[in-house]
Amino acid sequence: MPLNDGIAMSLAADNPSVISPTAPHEWTRAEVFALFDLPFPELMFRAQYVHRQNFDPTAVQISTLLSIKTGGCPEDCAYCPQSARYDTGVRAEKLMGLEAVLAEARAAQAAGASRFCMGAAWREPKERDLDDVCAMVEGVKALGLETCATLGMLTAGQAQRLKSSGLDYYNHNLDTSPEFYREIITTRCYEDRLRTLQLVRDAGIHVCCGGIVGMGETREDRIGMIAMLASLRPHPESVPINMLVRVAGTPLADEPKLDPLEFVRTIAVARITMPRSVVRLSAGREDMSEETQALCFLAGANSIFYGPKLLTTPNPGRDRDRDLMARLGLSAMEP
Ligand code: SF4
Repeated sequence: MPLNDGIAMSLAADNPSVISPTAPHEWTRAEVFALFDLPFPELMFRAQYVHRQNFDPTAVQISTLLSIKTGGCPEDCAYCPQSARYDTGVRAEKLMGLEAVLAEARAAQAAGASRFCMGAAWREPKERDLDDVCAMVEGVKALGLETCATLGMLTAGQAQRLKSSGLDYYNHNLDTSPEFYREIITTRCYEDRLRTLQLVRDAGIHVCCGGIVGMGETREDRIGMIAMLASLRPHPESVPINMLVRVAGTPLADEPKLDPLEFVRTIAVARITMPRSVVRLSAGREDMSEETQALCFLAGANSIFYGPKLLTTPNPGRDRDRDLMARLGLSAMEP
């Protein structure tokens, strides 16, 4: 019997739903709860099994995220230093010019990034702003990079225009569970998020969609978030899992720190429930030990943001990431 079959049979013994990483599976909350509740070694084993079935476990996809329009956002996301409602010291800036964005994209490419993500602090883009963003997408694409944007809610026409300009991915996070959402954001609702995600899908753009943990949510909320993400059809191609960055001036500034092992569990459960998605170890790495990051890679995370800044919050410098990846024997995933 091939080794993998033996492993699959042993996994089948107590939970058949875990053994078929490639078969479509409708994850119930009870099943996601059962995964979260597994003894840590068992959860890690299952996550690694699924990871190896679908990816080279030594390859990590490298993205770079640039804030092309910073601050002054009318939304009230409780975690976000770019909301105009909170006094965080982030100043509202205008949309960057095309040449400045392309210069950043070239630098990211030279540093090893395969995907370039452009983020704008908008509730939704205005039509004239979208003209400029489409030109940026075209320019970045022409450099040979994958393109990603996060611009807020979209109309069907805007999603189509972004697709026509060469956009590969659109990021729009569900952030948390449907139940906890109102505690974090009141200026839009969960259904708004799901609607934009569907329009992005309909336009033929790959979906990047994940959430944030450590915002004071319960494990039940983390379960609800993962179950919602895993219920999207198809699964998001990219699933960023963020640890809250507690920024002074935001309502979540004094939120107690989440147990890092609970964060690793969240990554592992995302890996198992969305086996073919690239799971990104996203915001929060600056405050995370290298050991925790290593556990996240073992749990199935296979993407990071590269570069010293994530929109407006700090991220490990490229040298530190290069050093960590070298020590772990990880290499950059080909686009
Ligand atoms: S997360 Fe996005 S939508 Fe929310 S306040 Fe920040 S920039 Fe605005």
